[in-house]
Amino acid sequence: MVEVAGARRHVVPPGEGRAVRVSAGAHVQVIDLDGGQVGDVFAFVTEPGRRELTEYLSAAHTRASTSRLFPRVGESFVTTRRRDILRLTGDTVGVHDMLIAACDPPRYAQLGANNHRSCAENLTEALSELDLTYSGATPQPVNVFMRIQVSIEGDLQWWEAPSRPGDSVTFQAMQECVVAVSACPQDIVGINRSGLSALAIDLHPQPARTEESTDRDH
Ligand SMILES: [Zn+2]
Repeated sequence: MVEVAGARRHVVPPGEGRAVRVSAGAHVQVIDLDGGQVGDVFAFVTEPGRRELTEYLSAAHTRASTSRLFPRVGESFVTTRRRDILRLTGDTVGVHDMLIAACDPPRYAQLGANNHRSCAENLTEALSELDLTYSGATPQPVNVFMRIQVSIEGDLQWWEAPSRPGDSVTFQAMQECVVAVSACPQDIVGINRSGLSALAIDLHPQPARTEESTDRDH
């Protein structure tokens, strides 16, 4: 962890995963340091003193809430209990995916690669580093910088990540949570543009009071 321009930066090495605890109101920025790298983002509600995670960011519930394939800036991702968990507050790319499952060992086995790192295992490892556990099926990730083109006929096309070096997506935590990011180790299907590279998770302290929070206090 290093300080970068007032933020606490956690670097996610190529193909690995990291998780950070985030206070309600704080901002989490996921940065594609070198460009062309897909990140699988997961978020779980945390409660003081509780290790087992149960409520998490649900792509399906979010699509129902926003009536979109991916939220617009200003819209929120919701949980399995339909509560806001992250709000999208910044996006320098505008191309992301919430349809494709996290890569996992069976996926790589089907592709002929055994003992390959995967986003599903990266999630488990990253949570255990924080002494947190989750025993359910891997949630549908928020695949930042991933370009899946949906045709009018309903076909999906897999494209390379369009992000440039330094591109980022920023979320504000709407409640206390843990956010996990996997720098996707997929090097067989061509979604990562130029090999595997690192991502950064920048944790920005709670920003200055906004008009919205002022209104709520009245
Ligand atoms: Zn992956």
